[in-house]
Amino acid sequence: MAENRQQYLRLLPAVEKVLREKPLLEILEAVPRKIVVEAVQEVIEAKRALIQGAVSEQELRQMDCSSQNLAGEALEKIQQKMNPSLRPVLNATGVLLHTNLGRAPLADGAIDAIAQVGRNYSNLELSLESGKRSSRYEHVEELLCRLTGAESALVVNNNAGAVFLALNSLSSGREAIVSRGELVEIGGSFRLPEVMAQSGTTLVEVGTTNKCFLKDYSKAINANTALLLKVHTSNYKIVGFTSAVPLSSLVKLAKEKQIAVMEDLGSGVLFDLSKFGLPYEPRVQDSVAAGADVVTFSGDKLLGGPQAGIIVGKKQYIDLMKKNQFLRALRVDKLTLAALEATLRLYLDEEKALREIPILRMLTVPDDLLAARAEAIVSKIKSNADYAIGISREKARVGGGSLPLVLLSSVQVFLEPKKTSIAAVVKRLRQANPPVLTRVKRNRILFDMRSLQEEEDELLVKTLLKVLAQ
Ligand SMILES: *Cc1c(COP(=O)(O)O)cnc(C)c1O
Repeated sequence: MAENRQQYLRLLPAVEKVLREKPLLEILEAVPRKIVVEAVQEVIEAKRALIQGAVSEQELRQMDCSSQNLAGEALEKIQQKMNPSLRPVLNATGVLLHTNLGRAPLADGAIDAIAQVGRNYSNLELSLESGKRSSRYEHVEELLCRLTGAESALVVNNNAGAVFLALNSLSSGREAIVSRGELVEIGGSFRLPEVMAQSGTTLVEVGTTNKCFLKDYSKAINANTALLLKVHTSNYKIVGFTSAVPLSSLVKLAKEKQIAVMEDLGSGVLFDLSKFGLPYEPRVQDSVAAGADVVTFSGDKLLGGPQAGIIVGKKQYIDLMKKNQFLRALRVDKLTLAALEATLRLYLDEEKALREIPILRMLTVPDDLLAARAEAIVSKIKSNADYAIGISREKARVGGGSLPLVLLSSVQVFLEPKKTSIAAVVKRLRQANPPVLTRVKRNRILFDMRSLQEEEDELLVKTLLKVLAQ
C-alpha cells in the first residue's frame, strides 16, 4: 500500500505539464497567468492530499492523475475565481422586494442613464445655464416636487440616512414625540429609538402599543418639543383594538403649537395601488397634501428605483437639511441620481411607469400570464424518473418591509426530486450559473413566476435543465 501510494504520488504531473493542456493554453489568453498557475498548483496539492489520505488500493486506483484531468479540474477552479462576487441571480422566491437580493430591479431607462452618466463626464454640479457651480440635488428636485406636490426635496443615500438627517436638522437637542406603536425596527438593525438618539433627538413615547390618541400627543408637548413624528409601520401591523392618530390631526395640533410634523413612510408609493387589488398604502402626495412638513421614503422599495432616501416637504425645513454638515456624509453619487431621475421621469406617465418599472409590473401582472409562462417552462423541462414537475398556486409576497400582510396571488413551477434530497437540489440551484433562488413548501421546490421577469424565463429553463442533468 505504501509503495503504491509512492507510485501514485510519482504519477502526479508537474505544473508546467498541466499548463500545456489545451483548455488551459486557451484560457491563458483571457486570464492572468498567475491565477491559472495558482489553480493548477491547488488541484495538484489537493490530489496529493487525497493520495496520502487514501485507505485502500481501490481508492488509489480510482484516482485520475492525468494532466488532462487535472487541467479540467483547474479550469473549473479558474472559472470560480474569475466569477464576480456580486452578480445577477434569478429570484424565484416569490418575494418581490427581497432585501438580500438587492430589493427593486431597475427599469431599462434607469440602467441606460447609469451607463451614460458613468461612461462620460456630466453636469453633476455645474449649471449649464450660468456656467457656475450648482447642486447635485437639483437634478431631481423639480421632478420630486411635481410628483409629490411638495415645495422642496432632497435625496440622500438611503431612507435610514434621510430619517437621521431630518431629525438631526429639525430636533437635535430637543424632543420629538412618537406613538409607542410606531417605534419600528426595520431589518438590518434600523431601530427608530436608536436612530433618534444618534441624531441628538430626545424620544418622547406616547400612547400604548395598540392605542394612541391626539390627547396623548398634546399632553406631551412642552417648550422643548420640536417635532411630532409619525412612522409608517411598514413591516408589521397592529390589529385588533387599535387606534392611531391620522396625520391630518397631528398637523392641526402641530400648527397650534408651532412645531413641525414629520412622517417616515418607508416605501415610496406614488400610485393608488388599491386599483390593482392591493391594500391601500399611503401615497407620498397624500402625506404632503395632509400638511406634513417633512416626508421621507426609500428609493428602492415600492418606488422601484435605486437605493436612496428621498426627503420632500416644506422649503424652510429642507433648507435646514441642505445646510447640515451630515448631508456630505450621506450624499448620493451620480449613478444613483441618474437612475433615480430616469425612474421618476417614468412616473410622469402612469401607464408608462406600470409598463416599464419592474416592481410595478411584477405587482400587477395578471395570474393568467404567470400561468402561461409556467406552463411553457414545464413543457420544456418535463417530468422524468428523477423529478416530478408541475404547476402550483401558492401566494407570493411583496417583502422588503413593505405591505407585510399582503399575500399576492401567484403561480409557480414546482419540482419534486424523487431520488435526491430537496436540500441538495436547492443547493445546486443556488450554486448554478446564474444562481437560482427558490423556496420550499411541502417537499416541493417552488419557482415563483411573480418574482421572475418574463425575459428571465428562457435563462431559467436553460439553468434548470443543466442542474437537473447533474
Ligand atoms: C425601510 C424603512 C426604513 C429604512 O429605509 P432604507 O432605505 O432601507 O434605509 C426606514 N423607515 C421605514 C418605516 C421603513 O419602512
